[in-house]
Amino acid sequence: MQTARVVVIEDEPAIRRGVSDALRASGYHAAEAGDGDRGLEEAVRAGVDLVLLDLMLPRRDGLTVLAEVRRTRPTLPVIILTARGSEDDRVRGLKMGADDYIVKPFSARELLARVEAVLRRSMGRPCEVQRARLGRAVIDLSRREIRWSEHERGELSEMETAILGFLIAHCKRAVSREELLSRVWGIEPTGLETRTCMSPGCAPSSATRRAARRPKPSSPSAPPATWPAPT
Ligand code: CA
Repeated sequence: MQTARVVVIEDEPAIRRGVSDALRASGYHAAEAGDGDRGLEEAVRAGVDLVLLDLMLPRRDGLTVLAEVRRTRPTLPVIILTARGSEDDRVRGLKMGADDYIVKPFSARELLARVEAVLRRSMGRPCEVQRARLGRAVIDLSRREIRWSEHERGELSEMETAILGFLIAHCKRAVSREELLSRVWGIEPTGLETRTCMSPGCAPSSATRRAARRPKPSSPSAPPATWPAPT
């Protein structure tokens, strides 16, 4: 898996630095923010995998940051850092969608164990992306279409939209053919031979092949194909 990106929002410099250092020493990428405004800015950046959020913050308090994060990135994992005794805030945070909390003071070991557990749980969580880029093509699930340019568009069938939607929603992990059969087709794959191709119109890969094809032979400005790259 790609290195997870964690944003540490904490106004106490010693704690912020200690947490960030512990994360980096364990192989995570850590970004730091010392107030709520900056923290929110960092948290909603593309590519962030987890937020560690203090509640008592200057400029914008942690619960307000959490509410805004939930509005813009509903499935982004958030762990609250709270002071001992602030049970009300902790409960409010959990009710507002925080994934876990850690009571200060905490050890690096506990912090890393919780970060790892929350990231593991979030792996199976669908992304909130409605559009993705594949080479020159932009796949727009809400419009059920593929756009290669302003004037080149193609409609997606219901099944193609479902396949692409599932792949995009689970863009952080590999999806097996069996899972596609079960979750998209609604077919129990047990006992089925899934190594051979299904009929050309409904093979699991046909939607991605169609999205990847180009209506013209080539384009010098075509970006390298990355799949899926949320737009
Ligand atoms: Ca604080």
